[in-house]
Amino acid sequence: MKHLDEFRDAELVRRVTAALRRTVTRPWTLMEVCGGQTHAILRFGLDRLLPDTLTLLHGPGCPVCVTPAEAMDHALAIASVPGVLFCSFGDMLRVPGSRMNLLAARAAGADVRVVYSPLDAVRLAAANPGREVVFFAVGFETTAPATALAVRQAAALDLRNFSLLLAHVLVPPALESLLAAPDCRIQAFLAAGHVCAVMGHRAYEPIAATHRVPIVVTGFEPLDILDGVLRCVRQLEAGRAEVENAYRRVVRPDGNPSAVDLIKEVFIPVPRSWRGIGVLPHSGLGLREAYARFDATHRFEIPAGTDPETGDCRSGDVLLGRIRPTECPHFGTRCTPDRPLGATMVSTEGACAAYFRYREGVA
Ligand code: SF4
Repeated sequence: MKHLDEFRDAELVRRVTAALRRTVTRPWTLMEVCGGQTHAILRFGLDRLLPDTLTLLHGPGCPVCVTPAEAMDHALAIASVPGVLFCSFGDMLRVPGSRMNLLAARAAGADVRVVYSPLDAVRLAAANPGREVVFFAVGFETTAPATALAVRQAAALDLRNFSLLLAHVLVPPALESLLAAPDCRIQAFLAAGHVCAVMGHRAYEPIAATHRVPIVVTGFEPLDILDGVLRCVRQLEAGRAEVENAYRRVVRPDGNPSAVDLIKEVFIPVPRSWRGIGVLPHSGLGLREAYARFDATHRFEIPAGTDPETGDCRSGDVLLGRIRPTECPHFGTRCTPDRPLGATMVSTEGACAAYFRYREGVA
């Protein structure tokens, strides 16, 4: 198939769901890792096409959602320093810290700007030599190569006024953590195709083997997702637990070697805190010694840690698949996309926003 509409073909969808019904003999619980997949599932009603015995849990694969309140507080502290020009992707501006968000900081006078690429922040630093320009670097393996490129460019330009507040996270340690939880219900994963397009899928092989879970690399169109579910179920029914690439039109086993090399040149794995999960070893990216001068935490005073789970929001439980968004008492009442209480309602990839937009929230 080459064209988008072919991946939404109703007859093919019917055939795949019929194959699913023939294959399933008992209950199974799968998790789609990526927030983009969650939105596709809700948008096209794919969960309603599945046999009743199949449960889909929504995973922590939304970079905005997993950034903890503590990181937001660090961002707010830096953005509030006089003279700082703080650059961020737009979704991050409404994510609550423990007291306020970046939009409120901007209203109070902070110079917070939305950028579409870390290279925009480098350009701003070059154009404003008298200002400290800080880029809030969030995201998974998908956005890390662009951040690495920005660091390399800042080094080449010898910029002294550019730095990063790093909140990049890596997917495989999060999957390990979910599987290690005593109440884990996940029996198979749909892995996010765009992450694997960068990093490849070999890193998932030890996870599949150790925890005996099938992991199927999956795209984002309806047939991609249903095919991923079918492949997971076939493995589960056969007692297999392998990494399978169902997104071969985009993903190679070793990913994109140039992007991987760039990440390795600039970053090293470091511990990182995740909303809802806590600190996971080797789950974030920190700057290598050669680039450590671009670390904003070395230039600015960073407040002591805050409790990432304060308040009424249950984003953490949503991210871990413990509750569905609609089980949160504030869903659609106190918490809506216009007045979000938590990150999973703020983000365009958040599970709460997906349910509100495509299911119960919209009249
Ligand atoms: S509905 Fe709102 S308050 Fe409830 S978990 Fe989602 S973001 Fe948090």
